[in-house]
Amino acid sequence: MKMSKLFVQTLREYPSDAEVVSHKLLVKAGFIRKLTSGVYNYLPLMWRVLKKIENIVREEMDRAGAQELLMPFVQPKELWEESGRWGVYGKELMRLKDRHNREMCLGPTHEEVITSIARDGLKSYKQLPVNLYQIQSKFRDEVRPRFGLLRGREFIMKDAYSFATCQEDLDKEYQNMWNAYTRIFNRCGLDTKAVQSDSGAIGGSVSHEFMVITDTDAGENDVFYCNDCDYSANSNHAISKLPEAVIDGKGYFKEAKVLDTPNTHSIEELSAFLNIPSTLILKSLVYIVDKKPVIALIRADKAVEETKLMNAAGGVEIRIATSEEIAEMMEQHGFNAVPGFIGPKGFEDIPLFADETVRDMKNYVVGINQTDKHLVGANHSDLGRELNYVDIRLVERGELCPQCGKPLFVTRGIEVGNIFQLGTKYSKPMNAVYLDQNGKAQPYIMGCYGIGISRTAAAAVEAHYDEHGIKWPVAIAPYHVVIVPVNVNDELQMNVAEKMYNDLQAAGIEVVLDDRDERAGVKFKDADLIGFPYRVTVGKTIAEGLVEYKVRETDEQEKYTPEEATQKLISSIKSVLG
Ligand code: ATP
Ligand code: MG
Repeated sequence: MKMSKLFVQTLREYPSDAEVVSHKLLVKAGFIRKLTSGVYNYLPLMWRVLKKIENIVREEMDRAGAQELLMPFVQPKELWEESGRWGVYGKELMRLKDRHNREMCLGPTHEEVITSIARDGLKSYKQLPVNLYQIQSKFRDEVRPRFGLLRGREFIMKDAYSFATCQEDLDKEYQNMWNAYTRIFNRCGLDTKAVQSDSGAIGGSVSHEFMVITDTDAGENDVFYCNDCDYSANSNHAISKLPEAVIDGKGYFKEAKVLDTPNTHSIEELSAFLNIPSTLILKSLVYIVDKKPVIALIRADKAVEETKLMNAAGGVEIRIATSEEIAEMMEQHGFNAVPGFIGPKGFEDIPLFADETVRDMKNYVVGINQTDKHLVGANHSDLGRELNYVDIRLVERGELCPQCGKPLFVTRGIEVGNIFQLGTKYSKPMNAVYLDQNGKAQPYIMGCYGIGISRTAAAAVEAHYDEHGIKWPVAIAPYHVVIVPVNVNDELQMNVAEKMYNDLQAAGIEVVLDDRDERAGVKFKDADLIGFPYRVTVGKTIAEGLVEYKVRETDEQEKYTPEEATQKLISSIKSVLG
C-alpha cells in the first residue's frame, strides 16, 4: 500500500471527548471515527486490526473443536420471553417494533437464539458435546458508553456456546476454552490474567474473566490478587479473610440500653462519641434493587459490594437509596427520624441481608430509627427478626487471601473475555432438551464464552503505546512495516525503497511505502502515531549502501544494507506470525 493512497487521516489533536489513551490514539491516528454515542466507524486501518484479531480467534476456536456459525442481529421478543429475560434485561436491551407491531430487540448477546438452534438440531446424546460460536456485532444501550471501543454501544464480540450431557463434559470444555483463550491473547500480544468473577445478568455459577492488567482509568474492574498463591478475583466476586478485630462490646457495655448519641450522623462521629472501635457498630444501609428497597447489614468499618447484594436479592439493577427515599420508608413505617439513625427493627416487611461480618458480633451498637439515639450493648435478638447471612462485603486492599492468608493486593483490569458455566439456566426454561441413553428428555448443560474483539483491539493499545503513539504488536498490526524514503525526489532513495517494498510484499509482509512528498519529520511522526511495528528509513546513508531499521516497541535502531534489512524483517515478522 502506498501511503499517498491509504485511507487515513491523522489529526493534530486528541478528540475532546476522549478520556483514555486507546480512545485518544485510535481517533487521532485515524483508526476510528464516532458516528454517534458509543457507535464507531472502523476505518480501513482499524478494520485490518479487527480482522486479524478475528482470525486469531477463529483459528484457535476451530483448533479447539468449536464450529462457527452466524446468527441474526435482530431477535424476536418471544424467544426472550421463553428465557424469562425480556422482563428483566433492563434498558441495555434495545427494543424495537417492526411494521406489524411485532416486538424485537437488537442482540446484546445470543443465549436465547443459540439455545433455540440447539433445541432444533441436537436431539440425541450421541450428538453431544458441541460448541458453536460466531463473530458478530452486538448492541447494548450501555448507561455510560465511553472510552471509545472499550465500552461502546455497538461492538464486535466472539460468543461461543457449549452443550453437554453432564457436568464433567462442561468442565472439560470450560478448560478447553480457557486454554484457547490463553493462546488467543498470547498471540494477540496481550498479557492477561484469568480471574474469578461474578456471572451477572447472563447467570450461572462458575465464571472467569480474562483481564488485561492496567494502572489506568481504562481498567473498569478492580482485581484482587495474591502474590503468594494463584488467587485472583474481580472485586464483584472477591472474598477475603479479615484480620482479628474487636467484635464483642462486652468490655464497653454491661447491658443493652438506649443511649443519647447527639449529632452522630456518621460512623466516625458515633465511634468517636462512644469511644469505641467502629467494628462494634452495626451499619444498616438501604439499597433499591429492581425498584424495591432492601436493607443490608454490615459491620460498620466495611463496605457493601453492590453486585453481591444485588445477586443475593435476586435482582438485575441496584443503587443506593437516596435520603428522601429512606425518609419516606421510615415515615411509612411510623418512624420520624433522620436517615443516619436507621436500624433494622420495624422493617420486617423489607428484605434484609446481613453480611458474614455480622454473624459473630455481640454487644454492639445499632440504630433504632430515633434521631440522636442508638441501642448499645445490642445483640441479634434485639433486631426483631432472624438474620440470613450472606457475603455482601467489598474486599479491601490489605485484607487476607482466602486461600493462603497472605495480604491481598488490588489492581485494575480491562475485561477482554470471559468464560461462564451456565448449567441449565437457559435450556430448562426454554425446554431445550436431548434424549439420553434411556430415551429420557434432559436439558443441555451449557457454557458460554465471550471475547470482545473490538475491546481487545483497544486494550492492546492501552498495553502498547508511548507519548508518540501506538505500538501495535506484530500479530495484530494493520501493517507490519512502513518504508520511509526521506526524499521522494531522490531517485536512488526511491529505487531502493520500492525494491524493498516489492521484495517484502512478495514475501507476504504487509508494507506501506510512504511515498508522500512531505518532510521526513512529518512522516516519522505519522509512522509512530499509527504504530507500525517496524520502520525502514531510506535517506542519505544510502550513499554508503545503508538504510535505517527501527523497531517501534523497543526503539532499537540499526543500519543495514537493504538486503539485510529485508531479510531481517522477513525473519522477525515470520517468527511472530508462525
Ligand atoms: P462488562 O462487565 O465489561 O460490561 P459483560 O460482562 O457485560 O462486560 P459479556 O456480556 O460477557 O460482558 O460480553 C463478553 C465480552 O464482550 C466481554 O468480555 C467484553 O470483552 C465484551 N464487551 C462487553 N460489553 C462491551 C461493550 N459495551 N463494548 C465493548 N466490548 C464489550
Ligand atoms: Mg456489560
